[in-house]
Amino acid sequence: MKKSYLAAKSLASGSSGNAYLLQSSQTTVLIDCGLPARTIEGCLKLRGVDPRSLQAILVTHEHTDHIQSVGTMSRRYSVPVVANAATIEAVRAQVGEIDPLVLATGDCLALGDLDIASFPTSHDSAEPVGYLITRGEARLCVLTDTGTTLPQQKEPVSLADLVIVESNHDHDLLTAGPYSELLKDRIRSERGHLSNVQAARLLAETHNSHPQTVWLAHLSAVNNNPTRARRTVSGFLVSEGVKGVKVKVALRDQPSLSWRSDNTGWQLPLL
Ligand SMILES: [Zn+2]
Ligand SMILES: [Zn+2]
Repeated sequence: MKKSYLAAKSLASGSSGNAYLLQSSQTTVLIDCGLPARTIEGCLKLRGVDPRSLQAILVTHEHTDHIQSVGTMSRRYSVPVVANAATIEAVRAQVGEIDPLVLATGDCLALGDLDIASFPTSHDSAEPVGYLITRGEARLCVLTDTGTTLPQQKEPVSLADLVIVESNHDHDLLTAGPYSELLKDRIRSERGHLSNVQAARLLAETHNSHPQTVWLAHLSAVNNNPTRARRTVSGFLVSEGVKGVKVKVALRDQPSLSWRSDNTGWQLPLL
């Protein structure tokens, strides 16, 4: 019998494309598919994953940086697309026919050996969501593209061993930066994107005693940088007395972070 685990790989994370590969001993899924199909296929091949073995593509919302090749991948490899009904319709309008597997926001779905639950986010799209994925004792949460934090997001974040959370912009860099006031307002709005401090506050509010790995995700290339994001979030957590959170930054345009539930990298104290 194969050992049970849950593993994740960031393939890309930012406004030019988002995709995460999730694998357990029995199930392989993508969360978002916002890169060209040939790039996704190349990433999968590099990791020995046959695209025909994908059980689903989970979609958070219909913005291009999350769905660019979802139509091609769904049709080419007969992969179902998991999303709520409003998002399925919005995705279809952009990428053509897909094989839909409707998961109403707030509901759960068993897929292979994974339990998939969705929860709402706050963003300028039809009905955006985040996901909590559970395999046995291991849990992973994806929460990006949300302009504010919602009460329904707190439990999934607090339960997760790996939290992939948006840390889109530094407030000061955005304010002083080159974007138009209209665009700045859109990003800062309750249906825009989460700042470094907002992400940090959510992590501090939801943290309990169990160790967590955090991937700061969907960083802006213009209004943020990895060092600033990590320092801001780590500094905030220290100032709030939060311990046991390992903070990493997912790179924008290339595969970067990996995580596996049975190899968390947490050192046991030497006795
Ligand atoms: Zn996005
Ligand atoms: Zn978006």
